[in-house]
Amino acid sequence: MIIVRDPAVSPCRRARDDEDDHFHDQCGVFGIYGHAEAANITYLGLHALQHRGQESAGIVTSNGENLYAHRAMGLVQDAFSEAQLAELPGRLAIGHVRYSTAGGSHIKNAQPLAVDYARGSLAVCHNGNLTNAEDLRAELELQGSIFQSTSDTEVLVHLVARSRQVAIEDRVIDTLQRVQGAYSLLFLSQDTLLAVRDPMGVRPLCLGILPGNKDAHVVASEPTAFDLIGAEFVRDVEPGELLIIDPSGIRSMKLPEPKPPRACIFEYVYFARPDSRLAGRSVYEVRKALGETLAREHPVDADVVVPVPDSGVPSAIGYAKTLGIPFEMGLMRSHYVGRTFIEPQQSIRHFGVRLKLNPVEPVLRGRRVVVIDDSIVRGTTSRKIMKMVRDAGAREVHLRIASPPTQWPCYYGIDTPTRRELIASSHSVDEIARYVTADSLGYLSLDGMLGAVAGPQGDKTGFCHACFSGQYAIPFQSPPNKRHMRLVSD
Ligand code: SF4
Repeated sequence: MIIVRDPAVSPCRRARDDEDDHFHDQCGVFGIYGHAEAANITYLGLHALQHRGQESAGIVTSNGENLYAHRAMGLVQDAFSEAQLAELPGRLAIGHVRYSTAGGSHIKNAQPLAVDYARGSLAVCHNGNLTNAEDLRAELELQGSIFQSTSDTEVLVHLVARSRQVAIEDRVIDTLQRVQGAYSLLFLSQDTLLAVRDPMGVRPLCLGILPGNKDAHVVASEPTAFDLIGAEFVRDVEPGELLIIDPSGIRSMKLPEPKPPRACIFEYVYFARPDSRLAGRSVYEVRKALGETLAREHPVDADVVVPVPDSGVPSAIGYAKTLGIPFEMGLMRSHYVGRTFIEPQQSIRHFGVRLKLNPVEPVLRGRRVVVIDDSIVRGTTSRKIMKMVRDAGAREVHLRIASPPTQWPCYYGIDTPTRRELIASSHSVDEIARYVTADSLGYLSLDGMLGAVAGPQGDKTGFCHACFSGQYAIPFQSPPNKRHMRLVSD
């Protein structure tokens, strides 16, 4: 049975940040098996994954008999009070932070989803996107299924409930043979935690263990979640691998029909925390290597290298070191934005971007400045930053981007605008430079990015780079808001 602790009114509603011109990761997941403080540890794990989603947060626990659920809109610290965590008993838990893509922003789409079905109770949370969810949902509705949310994840719950298999792991495998897409999924029944990564391993997922609690296994989107709770990283969950953690221990199974891996390369460029390691590679070191390659591909004679904080910092360090130009923090970022704010009725110049960034005039005045950013999506924020740097007295402003032009939307669990809104889909590099008012603009090449991420001996083929190249590895149904464009795979 499910006991729902969700509040009737959400305590906090984060405003969609229109000034943040980035792709956004959809979600982060965290799970724990075998710890007396499962809810509290999951809360901390979600806190460490907050960068992966800020719209809603949720935890479902199990005490062996019932599942206990609490979900709310807002940041993790706003979604749970100490008293609410105390109402989530049990030694098993899964948790989720969400930035909506499929399904829209609403408490009913917050995860984990939890249901009662013929064989007990089940909760699920998902990082990614099911690309055939619309077809499956239509089919299930025709057969009488009633959906409570608009999230593609609910399709999974219905398919597991309808499976004719008996064991929970067989029901999950049965379900996953019907779905396409990118997924790192956690399932929780009364006595079992299951963690599974899609056959191409598009979205990350890793396994850890809490020292001194040999049975306390943890799983998370990124290993930084383990650092905060004192867990040891064991390994990445392999593409197409299903981990089953239950009273008999931990087992691994492989999904049928293995496929070549295609890990999301944008995790290294922007989504993942720089203190994470993905597939054995330090995200921080990779970002520095992106900057080094960028410097070799697009050097510029300048006085100072300035990152757009925070994501541009490691690449700027790599760029500056390679060209022997001083690195300086010429733009400062406020970390206290994101909550609903009141904009003055009288227009303030660059109001939105100034909420986040402010120039450090002594660093910029009279200088030839290279600004390093991770990506350009619409170009609107880059234009404001260029103007801000120039207004602070810079003599020249050159923009360098530590990834190739983002020309294609993502269908694998990342919040992206339509192709028409992506400035690089319809404008040349020179046109973009003129639009953002940079004296020059240089993007990292696709091959340069792959080389930096894979490392000197690494395999460049194991990555998804569809948003840069248009080479989509997993078929998809184009959602309504993206249908007007033509896709490479059409
Ligand atoms: S399309 Fe881009 S953002 Fe989406 S999974 Fe592939 S590399 Fe990542």
